[in-house]
Amino acid sequence: MRDLIIIGSGPAAWTAAIYAARATLKPTVITSQVEVGGELMNTTEVENFPGFPEGIMGPDLMAKMQAQAEKFGAEVLYQDATELDVDGEVKKVTLGSGETLEAKALIYATGSANRKLGLPREEELSGHGISWCATCDGFFFREKEIVVVGGGDSAMEEANFLTKFASKVYLVHRRDEFRASRIMQQRVFDNPKIEVVWNSEIAELQGASGVTGVVLRDTVTGDTRELPIEGIFVAIGNDPRTHLVHDKLELSPAGTIALEGRSSRTSVKGVFAAGDVTDPHYRQAITAAASGTVAALDAEEYLVELADRPAEAVAA
Ligand code: NAP
Repeated sequence: MRDLIIIGSGPAAWTAAIYAARATLKPTVITSQVEVGGELMNTTEVENFPGFPEGIMGPDLMAKMQAQAEKFGAEVLYQDATELDVDGEVKKVTLGSGETLEAKALIYATGSANRKLGLPREEELSGHGISWCATCDGFFFREKEIVVVGGGDSAMEEANFLTKFASKVYLVHRRDEFRASRIMQQRVFDNPKIEVVWNSEIAELQGASGVTGVVLRDTVTGDTRELPIEGIFVAIGNDPRTHLVHDKLELSPAGTIALEGRSSRTSVKGVFAAGDVTDPHYRQAITAAASGTVAALDAEEYLVELADRPAEAVAA
């Protein structure tokens, strides 16, 4: 049986793996099959991760974290975790391959998933004009007019990045002020290719096999108008990925995994959690990484306690 399984592959998971591997716990990291690296794989330049004064591309940062974890002996499985059994002392993780792995402790760091607009045909047009990843798909919108939806840092970042390709970016936000940090907002206001559309939301998607426009609704007056564009980038935040544990671990009112105080301990002994899946507020790469450290240290402490237990307690 393994000592520790870590589910996830963002900053929290890799940092937990680095600490756990250095503590000779030989962690197994289950990365997911297609989304290895988490949210930072969709980011362009990360300018605020300490240690990189020139900035670093999100995917490069994740590759470095993974390399560091592997250097110390972390095992990496490019598989999806499809089911968890955390009831007993032995934690069981079923993989997409059908195999079930067992471990004494588990760190759950699955991050968060992109929020959808919730419009009819959104799914169908995904990949045909609607995208959640500017770095992946921006290239397809050369000299085209597009919309970015959102008012947070992600929307500012995507809008700015997309002006490298698009001839014009409409930044559509449902209120009359952004929640993004000032520096990110200022870059948007200074960019002549971005037009901010305040107090607006997309009411309808237009186009048969690809996006040809949207109907915008004014969130104050209710008035609608058509805007012909060829692409939509959705950057309206994320929801914690709790689908494997929502009925197994206690959740907070915000829907994230509830933790005991400042620790990474969940409501189930031997199961720890870290990163965006636990964090309704800060959600930065560096805070996720820090919480990965906490989870590795908590798991290590738990494993030491398990090993130290007298034989009769183990049998009980
Ligand atoms: P966020 O901060 O939660 O912002 C989401 C934005 O989308 C908000 O402006 C929100 O509007 C809007 N929104 C939410 N649901 C919507 C809906 N159904 N329809 C239309 N608009 C909707 O999310 P985020 O921008 O992805 O950022 C997440 C975290 O990552 C933040 O902590 C952010 O600081 C961080 N981040 C940091 C950087 C960086 O530092 N370089 C880059 C990207 C992200 P309201 O404002 O009206 O609620």
